[in-house]
Amino acid sequence: MSRPTVSLWNDTVPVSVSPRPALDGDTVVDVAIVGAGLTGIWTAYYLLKRDPSLRVALLEKHTVGFGASGRNGGWASALFPQSTASLIERYGVDRARGLRDAMVESIGEIGRVVEAEGIDCDFARVGTLIYARTALQEKMLRAEVAEAQALGIDHLEWVEGDHVRASNARGATFTHDCARVHPAKLVQGLARVIEARGATIYDNTEVLSWVSGRVTTARGAVTAKYIINATEGYGASIKQTHRRILPLYSLMIATAPLPDSVWDDIGLQHGHTFSDGRNLIIYGQRTADNRFAFGGRGARYHLGSTIKPEYDRSDTVFGHLERTLSEMFPQAGKLDITHRWGGPLGVPRDWHAHVALDPATGIGSAGGYVGDGLTTTNLAGRTLADLITGTDSHLTTLPWVGHRSPDWEFEPLRFIGANAGLVGMTAADAEEAATGRPSIIAKLLAPLTGH
Ligand SMILES: Cc1cc2nc3c(=O)[nH]c(=O)nc-3n(C[C@H](O)[C@H](O)[C@H](O)COP(=O)(O)OP(=O)(O)OC[C@H]3O[C@@H](n4cnc5c(N)ncnc54)[C@H](O)[C@@H]3O)c2cc1C
Repeated sequence: MSRPTVSLWNDTVPVSVSPRPALDGDTVVDVAIVGAGLTGIWTAYYLLKRDPSLRVALLEKHTVGFGASGRNGGWASALFPQSTASLIERYGVDRARGLRDAMVESIGEIGRVVEAEGIDCDFARVGTLIYARTALQEKMLRAEVAEAQALGIDHLEWVEGDHVRASNARGATFTHDCARVHPAKLVQGLARVIEARGATIYDNTEVLSWVSGRVTTARGAVTAKYIINATEGYGASIKQTHRRILPLYSLMIATAPLPDSVWDDIGLQHGHTFSDGRNLIIYGQRTADNRFAFGGRGARYHLGSTIKPEYDRSDTVFGHLERTLSEMFPQAGKLDITHRWGGPLGVPRDWHAHVALDPATGIGSAGGYVGDGLTTTNLAGRTLADLITGTDSHLTTLPWVGHRSPDWEFEPLRFIGANAGLVGMTAADAEEAATGRPSIIAKLLAPLTGH
């Protein structure tokens, strides 16, 4: 039997999140958005900024921020699921630089909006430390810094010394291009702002399908000139997008608040985000109320891309996260874990996020952010608003606009491939620890894992 999963974020969001009324019968709007996560909400925000007269409806199966947008690690970073080197290879230096600059600029844009709209979401642009905790990690992370400096696009430096205090840390990469946020405060605050500007959010309204001009929900039909699919990993549960996206689970834990003196020992300032150089991704932040919020991949993919509440929990992954955090920061003493939760993010077959609008049908979408959607949803929302309103902007020519990823394979190939990637990354870390050399397994699995 599944136990309910309450994230730290939902537990500490100040305003109670009562459901909005569901759709009650048929309606007509200008833009219908499927899903009230950050993609949908940012899109509505910029649409109404461009044209306050637009009738915008968000159709949400559960409640605002139910998905990844309300559960994530709170890194509003400039990361994009494709590396800068692969963007250059695909699009050339200038177009790759355009996308990378737009990502960095979007962090500032989020900061400006939350300030202007009075959304208190613990936004702090302090930056990310990626610790090198083995000789091999040092070699690989130093190579990343050298590559970034040679390309001259990303801002990455090598730091070491007294404030780099994770266990065995030989140094770290540092970028200022990441803000720490409280995800639920951000998504709930933005939802209130768009409602004040005239958008309508229908909670508990499951969308079943859509065709040009019409969305069919379990509660009535919505006629709309433009329809935006903003369901990310959950798109796998909708028949018409089933093979476009793969839901991959990421799980998190949070500790009780730690005293300032312990944080001084740990060396992380308020707002810092952190990770280390391993293959199987981990991510953490120091929260505004002085806790660790810490997460990672490793939960297995489920046959048929199924999504169930019980998949938000895996005692194996929670145990792994707790041991990893404890081992990284022994200064914290015995960890008091107060929250454990998780959720699905969305992985396209080529690990390439997209934003698109077909002017002929009025149907658009954005997603495929893998674990890097917090900032990318803002860029997607601005871009979709420009595409829908026909606003002439540099955003609509960025190389991810109109990108179409291949569909995922039929089962059981999808199951085999996705889980081979996950098991492989754990094996790759063990291989690197044993050999001290870059993992051959990781190299072989690169096409499955986006690295
Ligand atoms: C545990 C975790 C940690 C993460 N950490 C980070 C991080 O630190 N930094 C970062 O950049 N990214 C992170 N991500 C990824 C990031 O959270 C997502 O990329 C981003 O929130 C996606 O936003 P979205 O609005 O596109 O999708 P979602 O937030 O998933 O929203 C989709 C919405 O669609 C609704 N929906 C689904 N089906 C239907 C339907 N049939 N009808 C109507 N509505 C439907 C869902 O209920 C949901 O509310 C993390 C993700 C997870 C799960």
